[in-house]
Amino acid sequence: MPQTKKKLEELLGKVRSSIGCQQAPAATYKPVPPSLSDYPEHALLQSMQQLYREGSGLRNPYFLPRSAEVGGTLRIEEKDYITFSNYNYLGLSHDPRVRQAVHEAVDRYGCHAGAARMVGGEIELHAQLEAELADFTGFEDALVSVGGYSTNVAVIGYLLDRRDLILHDEYMHNSGLMGAVMSGARRIAFPHNDMDALERLLREHRSQHRRTLIVVEGAYSMDGDLVDLPRVVELKQRHGAWLMVDEAHSCGTVGATGRGVCEYFGVSTSDIDLMMGTLSKSFASCGGFLVGRRELIDLLRHFCPGLLLYSTGISPANAAAALAALRLMREEPERVAKLQNNARRFRELAIANGLDCRTAVPGVPIVPLMIDNDGALKLMSRLFENGVIAHAVMHPVVPRDAARLRCFISAEHDEAMIQRTLELIVACTTHQP
Ligand code: PMP
Repeated sequence: MPQTKKKLEELLGKVRSSIGCQQAPAATYKPVPPSLSDYPEHALLQSMQQLYREGSGLRNPYFLPRSAEVGGTLRIEEKDYITFSNYNYLGLSHDPRVRQAVHEAVDRYGCHAGAARMVGGEIELHAQLEAELADFTGFEDALVSVGGYSTNVAVIGYLLDRRDLILHDEYMHNSGLMGAVMSGARRIAFPHNDMDALERLLREHRSQHRRTLIVVEGAYSMDGDLVDLPRVVELKQRHGAWLMVDEAHSCGTVGATGRGVCEYFGVSTSDIDLMMGTLSKSFASCGGFLVGRRELIDLLRHFCPGLLLYSTGISPANAAAALAALRLMREEPERVAKLQNNARRFRELAIANGLDCRTAVPGVPIVPLMIDNDGALKLMSRLFENGVIAHAVMHPVVPRDAARLRCFISAEHDEAMIQRTLELIVACTTHQP
């Protein structure tokens, strides 16, 4: 019995340290039930609700339910809007051939995967999708799981532990950060895209850690700029680190045929240890994927909790949508070209109109329009009143004083939509009371 207790204590210690709470806090607390007012977000939510209360004249722009498909436009309560707030980058979500593939998959396999894939939940489409994703991205192997967010958390959490070091761009997506926290590894953020800073950190800290993982995004989801891939590859090779690239926004959109940042920079995929992508953007579906060396992917496939272990596989409908979208992406490269032209045009016109797009790279389908914190919510509401949806992003999602209207470009936009939107933004920002 004491043996079991000791073992249990040891295990608990491990779990505690992996979530960053090695010891009980020193303070003592009254045994009262937790209160929501302890959460700073609770006050934030209340002030938002106050701002958008009935009679305020402002429409709450969050959780707006659409009643039809979404591309360059969407419909809410019988009204059509131009939208710059969705990830249907290539317009494949409502393509009749994608819809057809989904109908057929549901007819054939039903609505859910059935179980964890290893033990009864595998359908033929899972392996087909993985093989074609590996082929498209140019990596040896791929695996697909239920969410992009959970893929990052699971894989980073699994691959590293307290002896290791994670160096990540300060703008890394929250899912990567949560993976790093879960791993228990030492975590250091380097200033955005600052490769000299990354090099300094590697020189200073690499030797104190068993493994080092560098985590970057292909295209940064708030800024629309790209990682300096050739430089980061050179650094990871010189310092014996692993490199993981989150290509949630760049796979399907960046590079001459949408294959992502390796294609854009002419870097060999064999120089990247792990690339993460999501099916919820260009691939018109839902789920996350990883591509890399066969041996590594196979290890993750069998043993990484939260990917295919302890988690059910993606549904037949989602697998079919992603597979059909991927095939169309390859057959119709003009979609990627159209998307990149639209993104280039939007950015060029925004700058010509005196708007600040920060470091957005021409052709990348995320364009931030910088705006002061106070103006952001008002601008979003006024655009909405005038038939345009584009969401403001503010602290804590982006740094203080870096509020922006973040615009996602789609291949479904046309010149008129782009012009109308920018005219409206200029009018609203120059005539704000
Ligand atoms: N990585 C990045 C960079 C993202 O922007 C997102 C979500 N937008 C994710 C991962 C998570 O992907 P998903 O939404 O498919 O869970």
